[in-house]
Amino acid sequence: MLNPQEIRKEFPILTQTVYGKPLIYLDNAATTQKPQCVIDAISNAYCTINANVHRGVHHLSQVATEEFEQARSIVQQFIGAAHSHEIIFTRGTTESINLVASSFGNTFLKEGDEVIISTMEHHSNIVPWQMLRDRIGIVLRVIPLTSDEKLDMEAYKALFNERTKLVSIAHVSNVMGVTNPVKECIEIAHNHNVPVLIDGAQSAPHIKIDVQVLDADFFVMSGHKVYAPTGIGVLYGKEKWLNAMQPYHGGGEMIQTVRFEKTTYNELPYKFEAGTPDYVGAIALGKALEWVNSIGIEKIAAHEQMLTRYAVEKLREIPQMRIFGKPDGAAVSFLVGDIHPADLGTILDHLGIAIRTGHHCAQPLIDHFGIPGTVRASFAAYNTKEEVDILVEGIKRAVKMFS
Ligand code: PMP
Repeated sequence: MLNPQEIRKEFPILTQTVYGKPLIYLDNAATTQKPQCVIDAISNAYCTINANVHRGVHHLSQVATEEFEQARSIVQQFIGAAHSHEIIFTRGTTESINLVASSFGNTFLKEGDEVIISTMEHHSNIVPWQMLRDRIGIVLRVIPLTSDEKLDMEAYKALFNERTKLVSIAHVSNVMGVTNPVKECIEIAHNHNVPVLIDGAQSAPHIKIDVQVLDADFFVMSGHKVYAPTGIGVLYGKEKWLNAMQPYHGGGEMIQTVRFEKTTYNELPYKFEAGTPDYVGAIALGKALEWVNSIGIEKIAAHEQMLTRYAVEKLREIPQMRIFGKPDGAAVSFLVGDIHPADLGTILDHLGIAIRTGHHCAQPLIDHFGIPGTVRASFAAYNTKEEVDILVEGIKRAVKMFS
């Protein structure tokens, strides 16, 4: 069993008070706090090894390059990829999806081709495909939800036809904290020879990922949701797709030779890493994943699921409580009566409780529910049952104020 009190000691920000109350940070699906070892990794990199990677013969550049490439191997192992050159460093999930929409789109898609997404996608897995639709005329097909807010698998199967070229879906909903049966979705798509992108922004921090077991063609994630700094993320792609795809950004490092008449491109992964990469961010991401490994992702997941179950049980005691979907991971979304989520969020904030309110960048899902937004509490390794109790007491207080 994981001891959150021990873990908390590693997170300097958690000792803060907000409005004189101890900070209760329950907005981990938006971003996680950082342990001291990750903060130190950033500072150490600048104090001891900083030099641009891949470019210098000098000592510092070589050390920086080694650490950067070491971080790539850590990511590779973390998600079970076959090769480290299948790991592309990006700014995060959003950039990774934009990269695939652009490069896969430019290489393989033409007018009338279809891409399948779902009702519960984050805007970053909707808008890049709409931009591609506006540019080249692809068609977006959307998997509906069942009455119990799950992916409608029968409807999903019925969406495939000879024009279907890609499926792009979330592993875990950032609004409902519900895990989708992505392995099954991938099997179904592969039976139609259609590749699949899995948005792992909300799964990589909480579930043991093995892209080879899933047989995902692309898997994307953000470092900042898994205890790493902002501005660094990952695109995993099967070698065969990445090799065939046109580059995304042009510039330094992604080339082999440049002549005004013709340029040839570098091999993987550099073909997709134009310009100076965020090597310090990547090194710190490696540190964060090692930190997760040192505790064990399964232990973290079990702890978070226990907190979610406990929160759901306690929240259900509140009259007029509506919980969205059947959360099985590290987040729960709810509304109480007709209290506006922003009002509830403001009252909780004054009690030192950080939760998220609104549409959570998933407006089509919020429209599907016909509500203004939800209140979402989301958990990480350092959260405790006592914090859930304080959240529930805070909501009860707010309800009294409104009634
Ligand atoms: N997809 C999902 C499911 C998410 O939860 C998020 C972040 N809320 C994103 C994509 C976008 O991640 P980022 O802003 O780190 O690029």
